[in-house]
Amino acid sequence: MLGDGGGKHVRKEQTVAATKWVFAFSEGDGKNKMLLGGKGANLCEMTRIGLPVPPGFTVTTAACLAYLRDQRLPEGLMDEVREHLARVERATGKRFGDAGNPLLVSVRSGSAMSMPGMMDTILNLGLNPASLSGLIAATGNARFGWDAYRRMIQLFGKVALGVPDEPFDRAMAELKRAAGAQHDVELGAEHLQRLAARFLDVVREHTGQPFPDDPYQQLEIAIAAVFRSWNGKRAVDYRRQFRITPEMAHGTAANICTMVFGNLGNDSGTGVGFTRNPGTGERQVYGEYLTNAQGEDVVAGIRTPKPIAAMAQEMPALHAQLMQLAATLEAHYREVQDFEFTIERAKLWVLQTRNGKMNALAMVRTSVEMEREGLIDRRQALLRVAPSTLEQLLVPRLDPAFKGRPLATGLPASPGAACGAIVFDADSAELRGRAGERLILVREETKPEDIHGFFAAQGILTSRGGKTSHAAVVARGMGKPCVSGAESIVVDVHNKVATVGPATLKEGQVVTIDGSTGAVYFGEVPTVEVEFSHEMATLLAWADEAARLKVRANADAPRDAQRAREFGAQGIGLCRTERMFNQIDRLPIMQEMILADTREARLAALEKLRPMQKEDFKGIFKAMDGLPVTIRLLDPPMHEFLPTVAQLELEIAHLHHFREAVDVLQEIPQTLRILSPRLHHQYEGSLAKLLAVLTEFKDSHLEDQLVARKKEVLKKVKALSEVNPMLGHRGVRLGVTYPEIYEMQIRAILEAAAECWHQGLDVQPEIMVPQLATVEELKRVHEYVTRIHAEVEHSSGVRVPYRFGSMIEVVRACVRAARLAQTADFFSFGTNDLTQATFSFSREDAENKFLPAYYDAGILKDNPFEVLDEKGVGELMKLAIDAGRRQRPDLKVGICGEHGGDPTSIRFCHRAGLDYVSCSGPRVPVARLAAAHAALGEAGPG
Ligand code: PEP
Ligand code: MG
Repeated sequence: MLGDGGGKHVRKEQTVAATKWVFAFSEGDGKNKMLLGGKGANLCEMTRIGLPVPPGFTVTTAACLAYLRDQRLPEGLMDEVREHLARVERATGKRFGDAGNPLLVSVRSGSAMSMPGMMDTILNLGLNPASLSGLIAATGNARFGWDAYRRMIQLFGKVALGVPDEPFDRAMAELKRAAGAQHDVELGAEHLQRLAARFLDVVREHTGQPFPDDPYQQLEIAIAAVFRSWNGKRAVDYRRQFRITPEMAHGTAANICTMVFGNLGNDSGTGVGFTRNPGTGERQVYGEYLTNAQGEDVVAGIRTPKPIAAMAQEMPALHAQLMQLAATLEAHYREVQDFEFTIERAKLWVLQTRNGKMNALAMVRTSVEMEREGLIDRRQALLRVAPSTLEQLLVPRLDPAFKGRPLATGLPASPGAACGAIVFDADSAELRGRAGERLILVREETKPEDIHGFFAAQGILTSRGGKTSHAAVVARGMGKPCVSGAESIVVDVHNKVATVGPATLKEGQVVTIDGSTGAVYFGEVPTVEVEFSHEMATLLAWADEAARLKVRANADAPRDAQRAREFGAQGIGLCRTERMFNQIDRLPIMQEMILADTREARLAALEKLRPMQKEDFKGIFKAMDGLPVTIRLLDPPMHEFLPTVAQLELEIAHLHHFREAVDVLQEIPQTLRILSPRLHHQYEGSLAKLLAVLTEFKDSHLEDQLVARKKEVLKKVKALSEVNPMLGHRGVRLGVTYPEIYEMQIRAILEAAAECWHQGLDVQPEIMVPQLATVEELKRVHEYVTRIHAEVEHSSGVRVPYRFGSMIEVVRACVRAARLAQTADFFSFGTNDLTQATFSFSREDAENKFLPAYYDAGILKDNPFEVLDEKGVGELMKLAIDAGRRQRPDLKVGICGEHGGDPTSIRFCHRAGLDYVSCSGPRVPVARLAAAHAALGEAGPG
């Protein structure tokens, strides 16, 4: 559908605008960008408010669509064009194609959405041998005239007649060689005259026709060419990439505008300006200009432009006019403007204006300042900043001045830049990290047991896995940069090297990763730190006032909770307790618990874990004093805490080899005595010592014990292995079969809360059960909670308020929500699992295997694991919310899946009546702004 010139949109618009294809700048509706394109509408608007726009007119997008449909310009269009051209002639006192005082025009494309450089423009139309002599006579500048002519022949030849650049460029190169010139500017009028003649030949050779001299014919061909460029490959690809639908922009307009020249002497010039600095947002006209030059010269970089401030000395009167122009533009559009101007013989003209594209820093600052200046209101200040752009400001970035080539490129899995020495396993990361080294953990893919490596490293790089792989999700949660799926990197963990094509990376070598683009660089690239300016704080405070949804954070450790609070989190929406078990000092105890044969042994291990969990909970409660903290009981299947079968079998095989090696070593003295009595005699003492060590080692049976232990673990791992672990023994199913695990966690939560209350903190724990499918499961865990709560209150003497709730991540739970709400105080949608369950897609397989094909085929528009699937998952959510609230009107409802940080999904959550969204800490500001956008009832540019 994108880029399709035919279809029902054409017919609909044509009936509306069938009678009038052309609008003078003085009559077009400056608000109607769909019909006139952005450029055309702004030219009309600027003309209407009295700004110095060269006279001209716009041929509508409807004419473009009619042309693309019928393969010819609509009936009567060229008559309208002639009428308008006559008006322009009257306004300028010049005549089109005239040998006395010729009028030249430009034909510029421009659709409703800005598509910079994607479509075509032709300049200096109306030149032919007769009007050229008129131009030379009027300007008194032959070089200028011939230069304009040869440029026009090439541009028209290329754009309108399809002649490639190459023969033109060759002709230019030949001429320069013959003239002994290095640069175009060294060529004189005669050279350019010769070049123009040669260019005319090029066109004839290529098209079999002479170059069209009739200016009206030129204009007709040019308008058609500009229309065709709407369906050019560049433009179609651009629309696909930026998802520009026909509802947003359909067809291009053609703007026909009187040419004005900035290269008619030192009282002429050309430039571009921003009404405020687009890099910093500072209120100061920012831009560059060149005297005696054309726009092309600025772009071509032949001469270095001067800052606009320099104009105050060089052309003070014009500088003052330019400042006035900028002020008028901004006051009128109530938005930072990016404009183009030309000065022709001391007369200022404005050729174009559009809303300025700025980086996030400048957007935030200008929003706050323009609100303070009364230019925009608070609502506009919030809506003009796209929430997702804030992410740029919340993570370290690569220095924008850096221009290196990446060594490899993967997926931008967690934003921000990080630099450090590479390590290939989590243990080395931990060891070297403790010594204060900055590190990048490089793995084929990561597993839960690598978690301590994440803590120690500055960034994560994997050669496999998508944007929701373990590495990506965990890194995002921690706010650490991650590049995943960099497939050109081959990781060899055993030998601690990685290869990328011919290059080899050894452990300790420094790399830089950019998790915002997916690029990986050799060596250290300078980075720019987080900028949480006071303007950002102001804007986000306004956002909180405007929003109805609260924003919480997903955080598993006190440090992350603290950071999330600094980002403005209004509580914790998900604390995944299993992450606490993966820390290096806890994993062995967790494994001891899993491997325990008896309930007593399991309880003993759990008793060792309880104080550790309690300390973490206390840390999180403290960081979130006065705010709710939702803690989820254990979710993942137990085998995730144990090594894999392959790993254990490898280790056992290693131990067997070691044993064989010892046997061989023991035979050395005897063998040496036979083969070389001299050597044996010489080293007899040392050999005896070696033999003693080996014998002692063998007698200790150390490796036998280790092998036996590993075999035991292997047996357990095999027993725990499941065909489909994600649908297996996990979540509340663990809580039902091993009540002691959940009991330990519940006790740790409530004891921590009691101790914090004792210290005067306002603690609001919320205990949450994962993977629930039936109300009976919920009731059972509820029994544990009420019993332990009574015990803790009794032993601590403190009243411990708490809430009890359920994750909703199983389809059956959505359907049974009314019953669940009898026991649950709150629901939290786990949309990661709920999306998997609703589609019956496994997330990793979907992303790695077939989702790209689904986008290409148009079956899915977005990745449902990133943008909530409103029609499926969303409907299930609404069903559950309705039923739940009917049962319990004060039921609190939130979301804690990845979607909780996605602006589009947040808009849905707002509409569906959720109370809060929860997302990773660094996304909290993005979600706060998105929640405000949702409440302000606008789609926003999210
Ligand atoms: C979810 O399923 O959305 C969720 C938050 O749980 P997890 O991602 O830990 O499975
Ligand atoms: Mg889940």
